[in-house]
Amino acid sequence: MQSLLPKMISRQMAELYKDMEDAYDQVAVQLDFTCNGCQDNCCDSYFLHHTYTEWAYLWEGLNALSEEKREYFSEKAQRYILESEKMLAAEKRPDIMCPLNEDGLCGLYSHRMMICRLHGIPAMMTRPDGKQLTFPGCFRCQEITEKMEDIPRMERTALFQRLVQLETGWLGSRRKVLPKVKKTIADMIVQGPPLFSASVV
Ligand code: SF4
Ligand code: SF4
Repeated sequence: MQSLLPKMISRQMAELYKDMEDAYDQVAVQLDFTCNGCQDNCCDSYFLHHTYTEWAYLWEGLNALSEEKREYFSEKAQRYILESEKMLAAEKRPDIMCPLNEDGLCGLYSHRMMICRLHGIPAMMTRPDGKQLTFPGCFRCQEITEKMEDIPRMERTALFQRLVQLETGWLGSRRKVLPKVKKTIADMIVQGPPLFSASVV
């Protein structure tokens, strides 16, 4: 059974994504950093995503598209999976453009994933085990920060915690029995919305 997000979780997900964008913008403004003019495009980075909530939210966006557009993205996603499997088999990290990218821009911008909203700027977070992590930002951002003594950073911890809370709130005890999510965007598109029975508790 395909599982769509309850309305309340969907609304909270939209709020969380907006708060991520705002936190990103605050740091980007301080650094005078944008992606404008970059010769690179991070949408070819190989990322795996780990929550049913983001997966289902992505499908809210896909379901709002025309069937033709959805099919177009689905075909691109199938090609992505075939190519990435070949690269992984050759022990190479795939660097294939995300199937949702169109002419350099995100074709599902309002529903893009968390990592798409965080990548680029310096950040920090505290893991549940207390370990502190820092992230330097992309190579272009590092060119801006390399001589800075006090680098502004996006604090990711509370944002990640909210995503975990949404996942836990939606799945409840199903979280313990469902398989762990470890999927590319292409996997999520090709497989359709997450499948599990509402009666699994
Ligand atoms: S979802 Fe959008 S922003 Fe994220 S990698 Fe794909 S095209 Fe890029
Ligand atoms: S995040 Fe950095 S490397 Fe990626 S597109 Fe933006 S400026 Fe370029």
